[in-house]
Amino acid sequence: MVGIEVDRRTFLKATAVGAASLLVPGDPGYAATASKVIWSLPTSKTQRFAWTVDDGVSSRAVTDYLKFSSRYDLKFTFFVTSCYQTWQENKAGIAAGLASGRIQLGNHSHTHKNWTHLTEKLIRQDLMGCHNRMLDMFGYDMRPYFRPPYGLYNDQVLAVAAAEGYTKPMMWNGSLADSGSTNEKALIRNAKTWIGSGRIVIDHANSTFTADHFSDVLNVVRSRGLSTVTLREVFG
Ligand SMILES: [Zn+2]
Repeated sequence: MVGIEVDRRTFLKATAVGAASLLVPGDPGYAATASKVIWSLPTSKTQRFAWTVDDGVSSRAVTDYLKFSSRYDLKFTFFVTSCYQTWQENKAGIAAGLASGRIQLGNHSHTHKNWTHLTEKLIRQDLMGCHNRMLDMFGYDMRPYFRPPYGLYNDQVLAVAAAEGYTKPMMWNGSLADSGSTNEKALIRNAKTWIGSGRIVIDHANSTFTADHFSDVLNVVRSRGLSTVTLREVFG
């Protein structure tokens, strides 16, 4: 699953605009669905960006992000893939982060399958598997925020999610490209390129790579006078 995401990040870099949907202008349903998908923050006088952290293969990375959040007063939105032990292992830290308002959770599926290849029933199962686990664990309802695995969606994906109350599909328009074949130099370059006001930046908690070089990334944030926001505080 990580391999495909690396491919998407390579693509993201190549296109320099953000994730692509499977729908393109001219496809049936394009206008209807494209309007619902969110790619960036609305303009604001405040210099701010949303730092989103996907998946959660690395429990230690999530522990580190939670630590950074309280130490530096940073806000993160985790797009949770719930099959990992990470969430149980960080239960106390996440509960505290949710209570403080610095942490938001969004639905990123239970098993990270490509939903565009699944039946309605299986999409719903993967979506609500994640939903029910976070609800049980934290008493926290992630709706309406979700990010389909790999950022891939079609009309069916959006319709199934919307029917369950997941009406805000969140994409991104900047990436730290923090794992895979990248290195420290690339991470800093990506941070400088993509961390900016109005951006939704995608990062991953699949290794401790970003966490291990956190001060470099934080320097970019600070030097630009940016604050961090959760998606919920911007989009309600
Ligand atoms: Zn993912």
